[in-house]
Amino acid sequence: MISRIVKELITNNQKFIKNDLSHIYNPLLEKQTPKITLVTCSDSRIAATGLFAPNTINHVFSIRNVGNQIRTSEGSVDFGVLKLRTPVLVILGHTCCSAVRMSLTDFSGDTLGICRELSLLKEGLQTMEKRYKTDEDPIAYERYTEINIDYQVRYAVQRYRELVNAGELTVIGMMVDLNRSFHGATCEEYITNINGTSDINQIKQMDALSEIDNSLIEEVVKTIL
Ligand SMILES: [Zn+2]
Repeated sequence: MISRIVKELITNNQKFIKNDLSHIYNPLLEKQTPKITLVTCSDSRIAATGLFAPNTINHVFSIRNVGNQIRTSEGSVDFGVLKLRTPVLVILGHTCCSAVRMSLTDFSGDTLGICRELSLLKEGLQTMEKRYKTDEDPIAYERYTEINIDYQVRYAVQRYRELVNAGELTVIGMMVDLNRSFHGATCEEYITNINGTSDINQIKQMDALSEIDNSLIEEVVKTIL
C-alpha cells in the first residue's frame, strides 16, 4: 500500500516533467505573480473540481486548512494579499464539510491543534446572526458552511479594507457543491458573497461579474441561506 503510494508520487512527477518545462519556469525563477490568493478547505475531494484548471502555475497562491479559515493561516493569507498583491482573494468552501460539522459538535476530546482550529471556526459562526436546526433541517450544515464563507469574507474585507476600498482587492466567497444542495450539477461552484455583500441581486450587478454571460450569472450566483 505505502510503496504503491510512493511510487505514484514519483511516477506522476516523471510524467509531468516529460515535456521540458524550462520555458515556463525560467521566467518565474526570480518571482511569482499570481492573480488569485485562494483560501480553501484541506478536504481531499476539493482538489480536482476544475476551478483553476488548466492554468494553475503562477496563477493561484493557495492556502488550505480545515474549514477554509483566514485566522488559522493569517500569515499565509497576508503573504498572498499584501506581499504578492493578488487582485483577487477567493474563499472557497464546500458542502459536506466535516470541519464545519465537527465545529458544531463537542470536539473537546480532540488534540489541542484540532480544538484550536475548530474553536476559531465555531467562534466565527457564532458571531453571525443566522441559526439553523441541525436535527430538523437536512442541509443545516451546508447553510453553516455558507455562513462560514460570509464570516471569512467579512473578516478579510475588514482586514484588508484599504485595498478593498481602493479597488485593488476583490474578496469573493464561493461554494463548491458536492451533494447538490444548490440543485445544480455535482461539484458546481457558486458565488455567494463579494466584498461582504451576500445579497444575490446586488452581487449580480457587480463589476467583477461583468464579463460573464447573464444566463451563467443566473446559474452560479446563488445562496442557500
Ligand atoms: Zn471542508
